[in-house]
Amino acid sequence: MRVAGLIGHELKHSISPVFQQAAFDHLGLDVRYELWDTPPDKLSETVGILARADRLGANVTIPYKEAVLPLMHDLDRDAARIGAVNTIVNRDGSLVGYNTDSAGFLRALYQDASFVPRGKTAVLLGAGGVARAAAFTLIDAGICRLTIVNRTPERAEALAASLKASGTPVAALPFTSADLRTELVNSNLIVNCTSVGLKDSATEGQSPLKANQIPGRALVYDLVYNPLETPLMKEAEKAGARTLGGLAMLIYQGAISFRLWTGIEAPLQIMADSARKALE
Ligand code: NAP
Repeated sequence: MRVAGLIGHELKHSISPVFQQAAFDHLGLDVRYELWDTPPDKLSETVGILARADRLGANVTIPYKEAVLPLMHDLDRDAARIGAVNTIVNRDGSLVGYNTDSAGFLRALYQDASFVPRGKTAVLLGAGGVARAAAFTLIDAGICRLTIVNRTPERAEALAASLKASGTPVAALPFTSADLRTELVNSNLIVNCTSVGLKDSATEGQSPLKANQIPGRALVYDLVYNPLETPLMKEAEKAGARTLGGLAMLIYQGAISFRLWTGIEAPLQIMADSARKALE
């Protein structure tokens, strides 16, 4: 028996165990996927255990995607550039950190919404861990203008500054900015990278934007996947805009982790069906 798991804190709502275990079981692999709820003072111990021979590795979630970086023996290029690790792979006792959020984010955009970022404008709501992954990925994919909107403006400014070397115009705004309306009207893509609207959170039922702020020609991509249809998606539909929820990205990023651990292509449909069932 080998073991993989999820490292984070206050993990009770995570559905990674459901769809990762479904994938291992479907392929008849003798692997158990566990929840490793870890207080901050135990993080380096929990990560250190991943180097044992029976450990495949782990997923990493809030609040540790950045904190595990210095605990890695090696880092993949995306993880190093984004500054966040969401997947750890045990390679013969050496821990390698990856960021599969970026590839998962982009694959969902292309495959599930047929959206090609090259030459388009995007507004990103949020400046936390997943916003960093989305911002670097959109710029790599050729977006021609990016506006980062965040409740804490300093975090949006810091993210914009770290993207400066790309040469792509990047603006940082607070939600209260008078310029937000113009940026939204001119956007082809709006991505919610905040947790606003997440089930069982303080902002359950809330949308970061109202229908009258959303242009009907935009694609609205909400990375929140619980509920499957978020308050922001409902507002976008009222505005006549197309929507994409966060479940596709969740499955794609998990499928890349699965392949990194096992060397085997993940059974996407099995993962998606089990995740959807757990969320419904
Ligand atoms: P994070 O690093 O904690 O960042 C949270 C972001 O949400 C920050 O920008 C924060 O703004 C903002 N925020 C939180 N509460 C807010 C409020 N009441 N009003 C306005 N803004 C608020 O978290 P993360 O890792 O980036 O994840 C963010 C969300 O993305 C989570 O809901 C997570 O479920 C989702 N996610 C989805 C996937 C997927 O595969 N679909 C993958 C990763 C994450 P401040 O900077 O002002 O605090």
